[in-house]
Parts: sequence; C-alpha cells; structure tokens
Amino acid sequence: MATLYIVGTPIGNLEDISMRALRILGEVDFILCEDTRVTRTLLEHYQIKTPTISYHQHSGESKEAEIINLLAGGKNLALVSDAGTPGISDPGGKLIQAALEKLGGETGANGYSPVKIESVPGPSAVTAALSISGIPTDKFVFLGFPPHKKGRQTFLKKIVASEWPVVVYESKHRILKLLNELRELTDKTANDEIKNYLPTCLPDRQAGQAGELRITNKKQNQSNPLTSVVVCRELSKMHETVYRGSLESIMEKIQSDKNDQKGEFVVIVGK
Ligand code: SAM
Repeated sequence: MATLYIVGTPIGNLEDISMRALRILGEVDFILCEDTRVTRTLLEHYQIKTPTISYHQHSGESKEAEIINLLAGGKNLALVSDAGTPGISDPGGKLIQAALEKLGGETGANGYSPVKIESVPGPSAVTAALSISGIPTDKFVFLGFPPHKKGRQTFLKKIVASEWPVVVYESKHRILKLLNELRELTDKTANDEIKNYLPTCLPDRQAGQAGELRITNKKQNQSNPLTSVVVCRELSKMHETVYRGSLESIMEKIQSDKNDQKGEFVVIVGK
C-alpha cells in the first residue's frame, strides 16, 4: 500500500522539525512541495536528496492525476508546504480528497491499490501563537486569512461576535488595516451595546448619581471585549515579536516603527 505522508515543516527556525519528519522526507520516493525552491533550503540543510515535485494551490487536474498515478503505482510520497502544516491555510485537502476518491482509503477503490494518508505532525503558526498567547485556549476558533473584499465585513463581525478566542493569519501588507477595522467595529459594537443597554437601566438612572455610576461601571466591563489581543510576528525567527494589549496600543506600536511592519503575523483576539 502506498502512503501519502502529510509532513509538518518549520515556520521559521529550521531546527523545528521532528526526527520522524526528517526520516520520512529522506525515505519517500518523492516530496511534493508547494514551492520547490523554498523546500530546497530545508532539504539542503539536512542533506536530504529525495527528488521533489511541485504541487501548489494552482496545480491543475493533470498534476493531480500524475500524483495519483504515482500512488497507484505504489510510490510513497510526502507533501510539504512552504512552512508549517500542509492543509492549514495551505494546499493539501484537495489532493487528499482526490487520492481517497480515486484510490480509496484502507480498502482501495476502482480496482486500484489503496492509499494510506499519514500525518507527520509538526509546527503550525496557529498553535505556536496560541501556545504563547496567555489567552485561555481550551476552546478557540481559527478563521485563516480574512477575505480581501467580498465577505470581509461579515468575517470581521464573526471575529467580534465570537464566544471563543479567534485566531487569524495576516500578511505584512494588511496587518494595520485589519487591526484598524477591528478597532472600528469594536467601538461601534460597544456603542450599540450601550445604546441598547441604557433603556433597561432607567429605574437606576431615576435613582440619581449612584445609579449612573453603576451603569458606567457595568458597561466598562462589558463593552471592551477586545482588550486582550495578541499579535505574533515572525514566530521562531530572529525578529520574533509579540504585541499584547488593546487593538489601539498594538496598532500604535506597529505604526511607530517600519521594522514592526515586516514579516508574517498571527492575530489572536481574546474574549
Ligand atoms: N501552513 C501554515 C501553518 O501551518 O501555519 C500556514 C501557511 S499560511 C499560507 C501563511 C501564514 O501563516 C502567514 O501569512 C502568517 O499569517 C502565518 N505564519 C506562518 N509562519 C509564521 C511565523 N513564523 N510567524 C507568524 N506567522 C506566521
């Protein structure tokens, strides 16, 4: 039975790779790479000489068919992405589906020999960021990259409304835009909440100054849902930086230094 290994690779620091991942990458017949040039750096570092095949999000059906044929012929393959875990905001899922459809799982399909899909776990920016966030993460929502245009407002509203901490990926080009939009939406949500809340407090307000104070205190606690934001930049790399605090203070920090606007980002919105 051929195996398609889904192999986690470093998100920055080349030492962050398991011994099993290195063994599998050395043993398989081919490594499927999102970008062969990026993976070559890793392979050269560990003197792995396995031939590579390009497989990325734009690979068409003929490339998929070529890969399925290799598996059908009993070749063992490893799928890697440029960084982290394949399938997590990276190619993977479509190929696995196609392999299972065409070749079947443990039992085989259409007369082909079956294929086994095996995970070789490794780093991912989402878990790395959550692990250092300090935000309670026994439950969380991962939403990947925000859409650039269509559906963006709905996406942002989901972040603000979520009951659980939300993790999103963002690039250096849009990090400030995302933080700013979240801040605007949070302010608006808080104002709307106050407007909706005030009428229910009328009896307290009639009681005078003490009643007003109670409203203010209660709303201060309730209407600031995004105070615990953590933004992780360049995790496991030389310029790793973790920004903690309010959206406003993090934005100010990133805005104040061009160097803080470089690299890759994970944003965690705590609740
Ligand atoms: N498959 C990868 C994983 O498991 O994390 C994610 C790939 S996705 C195309 C790339 C995004 O992941 C980046 O834009 C950034 O948001 C996040 N990312 C990847 N490496 C990172 C790092 N070292 N530090 C911070 N964020 C990172």
